[in-house]
Amino acid sequence: GLLYYFMNDKSDTTTSTSPEIPKPNSADLPKHVPYLLIGGGTASFSAFRAIKSNDAKAKVLMITDENHKPYMRPPLSKELWYTAQKGEISNDYRFKQWTGAERSLYFEPEEFFIEPSKLSDSENGGIAVAQGFKVKKVDPTNRVITLSDGYEITYDQCLIATGCTPKNLPIFTEAPPGVREKVMVYRTPEDFEKLKKYLDNKKTVAIIGNGFLGSELSCSLANYNKSKTDSGRIYQIFQETANMSKILPDYLSKWTMEKVKAQGVCVVPGASLKSVQRDNSHLNLALTTGETIMADVVVVCVGCEANTEIANGSGLEVDQNLGGFVVNAELEARRNLFVAGDASCFYDPLLGRRRVEHHDHSVVSGRLAGENMVGKKKPYAHQSMFWSDLGPEIGYEGIGLIDSSLPTVGVFALATKTERQTDNLTESSKDETEQAKTTTPSQDVSDVKCKEEQADNYGRGVVFYLRDEKIVGILLWNIFNRIGLARTIIKENKKYEDLNEVAKLFEIHS
Ligand code: FAD
Ligand code: NAD
Ligand code: NAD
Repeated sequence: GLLYYFMNDKSDTTTSTSPEIPKPNSADLPKHVPYLLIGGGTASFSAFRAIKSNDAKAKVLMITDENHKPYMRPPLSKELWYTAQKGEISNDYRFKQWTGAERSLYFEPEEFFIEPSKLSDSENGGIAVAQGFKVKKVDPTNRVITLSDGYEITYDQCLIATGCTPKNLPIFTEAPPGVREKVMVYRTPEDFEKLKKYLDNKKTVAIIGNGFLGSELSCSLANYNKSKTDSGRIYQIFQETANMSKILPDYLSKWTMEKVKAQGVCVVPGASLKSVQRDNSHLNLALTTGETIMADVVVVCVGCEANTEIANGSGLEVDQNLGGFVVNAELEARRNLFVAGDASCFYDPLLGRRRVEHHDHSVVSGRLAGENMVGKKKPYAHQSMFWSDLGPEIGYEGIGLIDSSLPTVGVFALATKTERQTDNLTESSKDETEQAKTTTPSQDVSDVKCKEEQADNYGRGVVFYLRDEKIVGILLWNIFNRIGLARTIIKENKKYEDLNEVAKLFEIHS
């Protein structure tokens, strides 16, 4: 456990970088804008939509250090790999959504945006994106931002939505260049293209990490390789005992790991890296388990750090424990200066101070910040959700505190009718909720029992996460369109005598 320390490495070989294009000229940017958005991601674009809905002629300048128009990230570790499996990836990264409809990674096409140089004179307003510029500093008192080249822009209202940057591990960042060039993180379309090239060349990939990204990507890559007659292996290496163990109760996490393996991922749990060496074209990864894994590329998926460099020199507070800019209930860091998305550390009246790194939070907090930028003065009270897919057969959504260190109660449906009969159930267990169990991380006995007797029974269900016996989180496992109900239950913040009764509300069987 003490082997690794986090580092925020920004060197070219190991982190996401946009392709080298001629440096844009800041002299083309306006000197003053009514609405200034820092960051070109989901939170920022969501703020633009809210501003536009409330102020139809708003002039909005978005500044991003990426060379892209605003886009969303979720399909990069999921849907896009299935698009790629079926054929060519289009320039606008089209993919099929869970609803069946097709859309692009980009929120809007190029034509939607106006040139930064034309923004000030635009009669009907609109949004201009200054691509390839980094904001270095904000002066909230005089309402002026400074770009890394020293150029200054004044604003009336400003949003910081800088997102986060993938962490790396010192074992890689401190390694010789020959090792570093085979190590990458994963967050951008460029990272997708780079990794796809490795797979298309039958390379073996070692994914390090067991969070959302490491687990989703492992499944997507293994499924992508299935379309090929010959392919490299996909390893997923992590310290924990089983997939997504930080959020799933132990029995479900172990069950999930078996499903991940069944998709073709070589899962290596309980392992840390001891050393890494370059050997001709390969990397040799020596593990604490004694095994050595040969890989052509390593994808480091060990979490993110909020992008708060702007705080230095801007006099803004960063949360010591959670990272992110500290904001009030209206998402303000200072007057006329808001923060939304991954980079914001906000106060949730129900669950305490939090920082959330999920799409829906970036949509909803971005929207609220946008509304407040036009003067609505609304508090952030919405409980956001997240979803994740582990290959085509496992999809889940969560709301509230989804943390496996809390006590949980899971209620699952048996997989099929046949299994129901062969399992020889008692009368009472034949109704809606065949199986309910309370587990805490230390109760290993119940996990063993799960594995032996109920190995196939976790196809569909609901898991309640409890704090002081109250429901603080709900996980919907292969159950969709019930997140509103889950939100209502969490908001009630009360104790329930029988969680089986609560589970019935979710209609696990239909
Ligand atoms: P970002 O999307 O990171 O955008 C921030 C932008 O600001 C970036 O373009 C950055 O380059 C730019 N920037 C940073 N600093 C500066 C600066 N100083 N000056 C100018 N620009 C700057 N969540 C889910 O709920 N479900 C999912 O299935 C899911 N899948 C994901 C898959 C992947 C591969 C990844 C990486 C994330 C996924 N997420 C998912 C998380 C979700 O994408 C993030 O929570 C979301 O992108 C956060 O939005 P944001 O706008 O706060 O930050
Ligand atoms: P989105 O980003 O397109 O929309 C975000 C919000 O903005 C929505 O409330 C939408 O109604 C609103 N909006 C959209 N266009 C607008 C416009 N022009 N002006 C004003 N408001 C507008 O979509 P999303 O809901 O954030 O979903 C993004 C992706 O995530 C999709 O691919 C979706 O399929 C996926 N998703 C998957 C799951 C799941 O698998 N369980 C759940 C949620 C979202
Ligand atoms: P994460 O926070 O979800 O997971 C981090 C993982 O890193 C841990 O589970 C652990 O396995 C591993 N780790 C931590 N410290 C380590 C160490 N010292 N050595 C080895 N391993 C270590 O982050 P992520 O999976 O890297 O995802 C990156 C970002 O993208 C996050 O913000 C995440 O929320 C987001 N994302 C979200 C979704 C989703 O919501 N469905 C999907 C993909 C990515």
